Amino acid sequence: MSGPTEVFSAADLAGDCEVFRRMSPPARLCIFGDPVAHSASPPMQNAALREHGLPFQYVRIRVAPEELPHALVNLAKADFLGANLTIPHKQAALTFLDEVSREARLMGAINTVAVRDGKLHGFNTDGPGFAAAIREEFGTDLGSLRVLILGGAGGAGRAITVQCALEGSPSMIVANRSPEKGEALAGEMKRDLGKEVSSISLDPAALLKAVASSDLIINATPLGMKTGDPSPLPEAVENALTERHMVYDTIYSGGTTALLKQASKAGAKSASGLSMLLHQGAKAFEIWFGKPAPLETMRAALKQAS
Ligand code: NAP
Repeated sequence: MSGPTEVFSAADLAGDCEVFRRMSPPARLCIFGDPVAHSASPPMQNAALREHGLPFQYVRIRVAPEELPHALVNLAKADFLGANLTIPHKQAALTFLDEVSREARLMGAINTVAVRDGKLHGFNTDGPGFAAAIREEFGTDLGSLRVLILGGAGGAGRAITVQCALEGSPSMIVANRSPEKGEALAGEMKRDLGKEVSSISLDPAALLKAVASSDLIINATPLGMKTGDPSPLPEAVENALTERHMVYDTIYSGGTTALLKQASKAGAKSASGLSMLLHQGAKAFEIWFGKPAPLETMRAALKQAS
């Protein structure tokens, strides 16, 4: 196994790839990102590979934006089975793949690549992973929930909004810092899926009404990643949260966030983004190997790593 935080470079993938072939077991899966050292995917996926007795390992590769096209081509040449993509590659990868799933195209982002017969196939497991997380955390499906997505026009937010639309959520409100991006997304959802999505700003009056008319509130902004970050729900809106609400914060780094504290104060059900991270990884494993992922093994590895 490579060291727990070892990071390879795009140059390692460009040559004869001996560095990957000589590893024991050989590296055949990876994550591309920049930065990528923080990623929790290697311990989670390596635990799954070991559990299934698959003789491969999953490594981190730092790929700068300008290196992405070649790194993707080299992935196939180096006999890799696939890759995950993280910041800043999820959107850019769309143009460099041979095939892209309908869902990933609607979501405008790829987080999983599978190499099949030398061709690169792109998928997005963030949306389905989010749906599975909601089922697990709150025991209900997106199709029965009115949703408010804070940061809904960002990368993760867009995957979540599209997933909600695909699963038939009865009401979808996107609250985006730049409202024009929310409006553009609403227009696309109407055009491509025939679904109504309302777009609002982060103005407290608009948020108050949106919270009151929603069941599930999701944070898909980065607010909460840093200690001391404020909640994306301003104080003036906090009192609209009640016991009947479900609050999901996609942030999974470290302790609780200001939003989760607000939810707990209101007696609402709440969960952090760790379950979404787990389920998007499990769905990627299933795309690569066509068999159920060992969920509990992956969950334990993730908990240990975070
Ligand atoms: P992104 O593409 O940069 O989108 C960020 C979104 O947040 C945009 O809508 C942006 O609004 C908004 N935003 C940024 N700063 C803000 C602020 N200070 N106040 C209000 N809104 C703000 O980022 P991303 O990749 O989607 O990541 C967003 C979050 O999702 C991160 O916290 C990440 O950890 C989390 N995530 C979790 C998982 C998981 O598996 N749990 C997976 C992916 C991402 P504008 O449109 O105005 O810029």
